[in-house]
Amino acid sequence: MTTVALLPGDGIGPEVTHAAASILQRIRPDLECVEALVGGAGLAHAGAALPPQTRALCDRSDAILFGSVGLPEYDGKPLAERPEYALFLLRGGYELYANLRPVRVFPGLEHASSLKPELVRGLDLVVVRELTGGIYFGKPKEQRVVDGVEEAVDTMIYRAPEVERIARVAFDLARERRGHLTSVDKQNILETSRLWRRVVDRVAADYPDVTLEHLLVDNAAMQLVRRPGDFDVIVTENMFGDILSDEAAILTGSIGTLPSASLGTRGEPGRRFGLYEPVGGSAPDIAGKGIANPTAAILSVAMLLRHSLDDAENAARVERAVEAVYASGVRTAELAGGGPSLSTQAFTDAVKEQL
Ligand code: NAD
Repeated sequence: MTTVALLPGDGIGPEVTHAAASILQRIRPDLECVEALVGGAGLAHAGAALPPQTRALCDRSDAILFGSVGLPEYDGKPLAERPEYALFLLRGGYELYANLRPVRVFPGLEHASSLKPELVRGLDLVVVRELTGGIYFGKPKEQRVVDGVEEAVDTMIYRAPEVERIARVAFDLARERRGHLTSVDKQNILETSRLWRRVVDRVAADYPDVTLEHLLVDNAAMQLVRRPGDFDVIVTENMFGDILSDEAAILTGSIGTLPSASLGTRGEPGRRFGLYEPVGGSAPDIAGKGIANPTAAILSVAMLLRHSLDDAENAARVERAVEAVYASGVRTAELAGGGPSLSTQAFTDAVKEQL
């Protein structure tokens, strides 16, 4: 049986995850969805951000639908005692190396963007970020005193196979979409970027149907706000991806609409084990009020169907339903600008009606 681990977590996590799971169960009643504690909920009720039972559930699952973790009362504690440690353990434990962040502006939401509506109309791109390598993990990584002077070092390192596997994820995705891939690096300065570009070019030979362009990261940051509609799939290393994916995210105007996937080494394309979650956090300012936008969690379900359950048909069904709801003028509070708005539950019901 196909099993999906539901890890709602903290803050608005349970509200949006339960909403999204109800849609998953409506369209795929054959799935086994099993809920477990994570984050602050795990620390409070099972003594760990990622309790052993939760880890065991993830081990036997085909995918994880994750809410969010983080609570103000843990601010200032060391990482290993914080709710966010769960994500760190899951990403490392399952080697979730490919972070996919689709950015779409739904018709009717162009005015929510900080850019001019005509620049973001129809915007539909995906940032593919390498998530387990590069400068965030390279050794040596330390602060030290040398000859009485304080210094610090971080190390940016990539091995060719790490570049090749993320490039293949991006090329596969571009092939399913509009066939255009932008690889972002800093090859005029960085050795790791020269390796990156060489390997991406090598992989490109296997994808003659995909058009590949290379951009330097500083130029990419500029082009993302100048001509965002020209991008289809963007692939880049960990730190550049961290920055560019946040820049791309704000193009939509609400973090509550943005899903993400982190794909691991287990499985093959279409049936990869992965963790799916909203880009936003636990939003303590609105938690418990029933007003959180469930779109990001619902679109995370669509990604889960597409990438872990090889079910592109139902994934597209979910995406079309969300699009239809926005086209009908319905809004959640953060997008309503003080006008009429639907609760998390009512928005979810509207999506179900469109399915
Ligand atoms: P946040 O994303 O939780 O909130 C930022 C703003 O966006 C808030 O005003 C919030 O109300 C709004 N927002 C977020 N999601 C929304 C939704 N679905 N609908 C409507 N509005 C939404 O970021 P933050 O305030 O910086 O962090 C809060 C906590 O979340 C912290 O503890 C942080 O560590 C954690 N966090 C967790 C994750 C994760 O679980 N992956 C990601 C980011 C932050």
